[in-house]
Amino acid sequence: MELTLAILKPDCVGANKIGKVVERIEAAGYQILSMKMVRLTKETAGEFYAVHNERPFFTDLVQFMSSGKCVPMALTKKNAVADFRKLIGATDPAEADQGTIRRDFAESKQNNIVHGSDSVANGKLEIGFFFSEKELVENNLA
Ligand code: UDP
Ligand code: MG
Repeated sequence: MELTLAILKPDCVGANKIGKVVERIEAAGYQILSMKMVRLTKETAGEFYAVHNERPFFTDLVQFMSSGKCVPMALTKKNAVADFRKLIGATDPAEADQGTIRRDFAESKQNNIVHGSDSVANGKLEIGFFFSEKELVENNLA
């Protein structure tokens, strides 16, 4: 089964919306292989978003991602990556489709509640950024 990484960002955790967002993710058929709560340093946030380090929004993004606790989640489902991007909607909540997580919960293009991997290869790499192999436990009751 395909893997993708979600991160509930500091705006989500700070506004006590973890449950609401996790509810959407579970209702969409994802199995949560692992999740944890972390406070990213500026260094770690910058490393995670290194692909964007030349972009004008990078400094503010790193500040935001290290401003409070995050909840990275290793998720699996058939077509996990593309379906998750549909579930969360466009980067800017004002442009996100009705019924998407970002449209319903996010306040701005930066403070957009949740990260989702953008390719199958990045899904695996990004899960490896936060989780070790032994933390990725299959639910044997499923
Ligand atoms: N971002 C921002 N301003 C922009 C574009 C992106 O603050 O103009 C932030 C936003 O939090 C976004 C993250 O940087 O989620 C990574 O950007 P990307 O283009 O990868 O968007 P995503 O894949 O998260 O939709
Ligand atoms: Mg992205």
